[in-house]
Amino acid sequence: MKDKIILIQGAMDIEVEYFIRNLEKKEKHIIAGYEFYTGYIHTSKIIISKTLVGVVNATTATTIAIMTFHPDIVINQGIAGAHRTNIHIGDIVIGEKCCNINAFSMPTKKEGCSSNPFEWEPNKRGEEIQNGDKTLVTVFKDFFESNYENGIYTGILGSGDVFNREYDRIMWLQKRFHHLSEDMESIGMYCVCNQFEIPCVGIRIISNNELTNEKLDKEQAIRLQELFIKFFKT
Ligand code: SAH
Repeated sequence: MKDKIILIQGAMDIEVEYFIRNLEKKEKHIIAGYEFYTGYIHTSKIIISKTLVGVVNATTATTIAIMTFHPDIVINQGIAGAHRTNIHIGDIVIGEKCCNINAFSMPTKKEGCSSNPFEWEPNKRGEEIQNGDKTLVTVFKDFFESNYENGIYTGILGSGDVFNREYDRIMWLQKRFHHLSEDMESIGMYCVCNQFEIPCVGIRIISNNELTNEKLDKEQAIRLQELFIKFFKT
């Protein structure tokens, strides 16, 4: 990854603050309300982007960053909810692929016929699978496995503008998308990077698991940033 320009994204303050504090020769840029910080971590040229929450924000911030800063690699990181009973708070998921788990079509129902989300089917966007860069997946998997005590999982990241809290719904989604986790930004980043043919990966630390009743712990975001800093320093 030497000599590459690396864009690192996080949606919320807590997902980027530690990076920004550790950035050397830091310069702040605000474009259309989105914050970008250029600088260095050790010898790596880094752009930290605060994308804000949600798919639309992530998509917009990724496009602006690519057009403005021309990164060679894009990493979308932050917290996510686990959609598997065996993945827990503090575990890390690495996205070989990414699916939009909030893109559906549904049968017509007349007035008074209620709504049944279990009848919905993924639409075209829901069926599309976005790809992460294989080398990036391997590099980070290897590094985390030898530098971090909790579970490391590679597979499909689920993403969409939704925070699912219903056990049966999560299992229903799981059957269709076979994903590990749910977040609200990575699908935007994967779609844009795949279009521009820029190597990308989504990496998330688990902050909650609605299946096992593990409550949202946003502080996990800092652990992940600490690991990335260690990665760039070694
Ligand atoms: N208060 C915030 C939401 C915080 S939680 C707001 O509504 O603005 C949602 C953020 O954490 C998103 O950036 C998302 O990517 C991530 N996240 C963590 N757990 C999640 C889950 N179970 N489902 C969806 N997004 C989750």
